[in-house]
Amino acid sequence: MIDVQQTVRPLLIGGAWRTTEAMIEARSPVTGALLELVSSGGAAEIDAAVRAAQAAYPAWRDLGERGRMRMMHQLHDVLAARMDDLTALIHRETGKPPVEALSSDVLVALETLAHHARHGTAELAPERIKPTQRTLLGHRVQVVYEPVGVVGVIGPWNVPLGIGLTQIASALIVGNTVVFKPSEFTSLIGLALAEACVAAGFPPGVLNVITGGGAAGAALAAHPGTRRIMFTGSVATGRKVAVECARRLCPCVLELGGVGAAIVRADADPEVAARGVVFARFVNNGQICAAAERVYVNQQIARPFIEAVVRETLKLRSGGDGDDYDVGPLINAPSVERMEQQVADAQAAGATVRAGGTRPQLNDARREGHYFAPTVLTNVTPDMAIMREETFGPLLPIMEVADDDEALQHANSLPLGLGTTIWTRDVDAGAALGRKIETGMVWINDSTVYYSDPGIPWGGVKESGIGRSHGRWGLQAVADLKVVARSRHSARLWWFPYASYKHRLIKLAISLQHRPGWRAKLRALAEALLVR
Ligand code: NDP
Repeated sequence: MIDVQQTVRPLLIGGAWRTTEAMIEARSPVTGALLELVSSGGAAEIDAAVRAAQAAYPAWRDLGERGRMRMMHQLHDVLAARMDDLTALIHRETGKPPVEALSSDVLVALETLAHHARHGTAELAPERIKPTQRTLLGHRVQVVYEPVGVVGVIGPWNVPLGIGLTQIASALIVGNTVVFKPSEFTSLIGLALAEACVAAGFPPGVLNVITGGGAAGAALAAHPGTRRIMFTGSVATGRKVAVECARRLCPCVLELGGVGAAIVRADADPEVAARGVVFARFVNNGQICAAAERVYVNQQIARPFIEAVVRETLKLRSGGDGDDYDVGPLINAPSVERMEQQVADAQAAGATVRAGGTRPQLNDARREGHYFAPTVLTNVTPDMAIMREETFGPLLPIMEVADDDEALQHANSLPLGLGTTIWTRDVDAGAALGRKIETGMVWINDSTVYYSDPGIPWGGVKESGIGRSHGRWGLQAVADLKVVARSRHSARLWWFPYASYKHRLIKLAISLQHRPGWRAKLRALAEALLVR
């Protein structure tokens, strides 16, 4: 029941806080309780925000790199000072353990801002290109990067601060202004970021935050005032965003889902690999795009590996309070229903549940929360939905394979390709196997932790996305590449008026360069000289 007296949290447009009639109920996934009411923007608010961002753009661009680096530094310091509050808020709104709120969200945000505050856009330094076409020798050619204008950022709920801030900060440091639409399930975290930017002294309109549902995201993707869209979310929604962008030929970066494979080679230590895979699957309760969602273990070590995975999974503590738990709830009720359905489908197809498989019996405040026990399944086959479709929850199916080749064939069999983990004592052999895998990222003996480094590119191939975030690749995505070519001020052979001597000279130059054999070149020279 909503208490209509409760304050509705406003959204941020052009430095002003505005409330809307429509509201989002921010609820705790731990207990289902109402946390706060939040304004829910739609097409009108998106339009106002894009206009505010357009108005703020020239001054932000002209502030220059040093000025923007200073702002990144100030935002970094505000977030660092609010670290405990942010951790508590992320924990409250997503249910993830505070340790994870710190390591996956707060750490990523601070590392990213520190990186931009220190390096600015050094990764986009102008690049000299030496002309190879001989008539251009002596011309000085440079590639430079320019800001594009307004960037729309649409974020997910699973790493709401870490991912949202990464995309926003890369757009801002390049000199763009931003309209950010956080997921409606993490609206409060989106607003916390807005408040931090205001506290850091960002000029009005540089960052606008429109809390709202899918319609706000769709309006942002379609808005003709945005020059780039950076979207993180599901493949299905990413496809819609890509269509909107294609309509107006607006480039977009799509960070989408995956069904990441974990390959456990015959030489792996089964105990170590089991602990690594359990973390790679159940971190953030399985709600990680590049999680290890399907395991291919070499049959030589399958038995001890599976036993260790089951043992380690049964040790995981579900919780929602304090620091001493490993997995929290899922984000919402439909996610729990999806887990039940996927387990039921797998069992009907012949899979065996070795751990979990149901909602846990909870007799405390978490009764109304969105819990599902960490689950291990064996006797799975490659055609089962659980091995082919993104789970985005705590389900870990394990299949035995004869060798690396069979593992590779299964790993590459899906239309998705985000991250793959390989577990082995021979890291070079693991890396060689990784080169054959069709994913954007391959991690040997570790998993998604690399997201926290601002310089290491992140993203997928196939239907897992287009483009990359992080490092120079992330900056290039929100910049326009421009060629600046300089030549001395003098008349050119190829300018008007055309004449037959110009024809002969150009033909001679082409012949000397491209005709095969010295005889042909000599003939061309003679032809040119003999003509009156
Ligand atoms: P969704 O695709 O459901 O939502 C992502 C964002 O898009 C949300 O802000 C959502 O708003 C918004 N949205 C919804 N409909 C539209 C629309 N028609 N047009 C534009 N925007 C829209 O994904 P989730 O939030 O559920 O995130 C989970 C998914 O994200 C998983 O598939 C996961 O693999 C992927 N992901 C990928 C990552 C990567 O780096 N590759 C990282 C993290 C997640 P609202 O929530 O308010 O509906």
